Amino acid sequence: MENAQKKFVIKTYGCQMNVNESGKIAELLTREGFERTNDDKSADIIVFNTCCVRDTAEKKIEAHIGNTKILKKQNKGLVVAVIGCMTQKNGAAESLKKKFPHIDIILGTHNIDKLVSYIKEGRRPKTFIEILAERKGSDEILTTTIDQDGQTAYINITYGCENFCSYCIVPFVRGKLISRPFADIEREFDEILRAGVAKRIVFLGQNVNAYEGSGYDFPKLLRYFNDKEGEFSLNFLSSHPKDFGDELISAIKDCEKVEKNIHLPLQSGCDKILKLMNRRYTVSEYETKINALRVACPEVHITTDIICGFPTETEVDFAETLETMRRIKFNAAFVFPYSRRSGTVADKLDGQLPLKVKRERATKLIKLLQDLSKA
Ligand code: SF4
Repeated sequence: MENAQKKFVIKTYGCQMNVNESGKIAELLTREGFERTNDDKSADIIVFNTCCVRDTAEKKIEAHIGNTKILKKQNKGLVVAVIGCMTQKNGAAESLKKKFPHIDIILGTHNIDKLVSYIKEGRRPKTFIEILAERKGSDEILTTTIDQDGQTAYINITYGCENFCSYCIVPFVRGKLISRPFADIEREFDEILRAGVAKRIVFLGQNVNAYEGSGYDFPKLLRYFNDKEGEFSLNFLSSHPKDFGDELISAIKDCEKVEKNIHLPLQSGCDKILKLMNRRYTVSEYETKINALRVACPEVHITTDIICGFPTETEVDFAETLETMRRIKFNAAFVFPYSRRSGTVADKLDGQLPLKVKRERATKLIKLLQDLSKA
């Protein structure tokens, strides 16, 4: 494919990890002479970086992919690529190919570093699929990206997750937890500092605080980078409460560059539901950590995620969650109705609730949060 003045669009769905990976793909395409645009009609390449965490996201993505069929009729050279979590699900790539035969390239979550070279090969006579079972050590995109705010840089420090929360598809599509070599993280970190643009550096991972690499656990890693010279702040996403221990709380307290904004997903305020979710902590254990964090850093701003209408959740269970939220008084919470994901343990549980109930509970919780916030 001739690169001169070719334009590309990247459509990103889902979490910050995807946003970061899309940023890296954009950087590589730009280095190859492609130009970024937001206009689908003038694009020569459209990349869908997908998410499968919720059913609604998948439906939206499929609708958007469907729309490119018309664009392809107008622009015979248009290359359509689909990458990311949605394609990595068992059988999903083949099913996408069947539904949308106009897709040129489908890659999974472990080989997006190959995307740019495959795009350069141009349009395919039939859909090319490459899904790897696991990540290989050297397949990272070795470039750094700055967020659209022009101030925040993201560094992946872990990939994958093996917590197997019963509702979550991520361990099936992102693979087992891998901590990046410490030296690679430091090289990327130093490059960002040298570029001098980023004011914030955010460490990313599906389970970021489970990092273990080259003798560094996550609290030690935070302390190490906090000591680097320069004017910047540090943050991290996403944390699991079971790996959020005293050492980490002390590091957050001691490290002046670590922002006192902590996101710690609770998911339910009811022990019965937490157990079914396989979250491996109780409400009381979670609260003990939050209280310790607030004692260590009185100015801390704490946010969380809550899933409403998990299978078997009764009105009494949900009332427990509401009560927990009243007690903990988060600064903010992201509330989601439970979304069934095929292949997960929760999907096979009896006691699935109607969408109406899940939505009503989510609305009720959001209302409570608004009232608490006003108060
Ligand atoms: S910690 Fe649980 S919810 Fe988070 S990515 Fe891993 S399995 Fe999914």
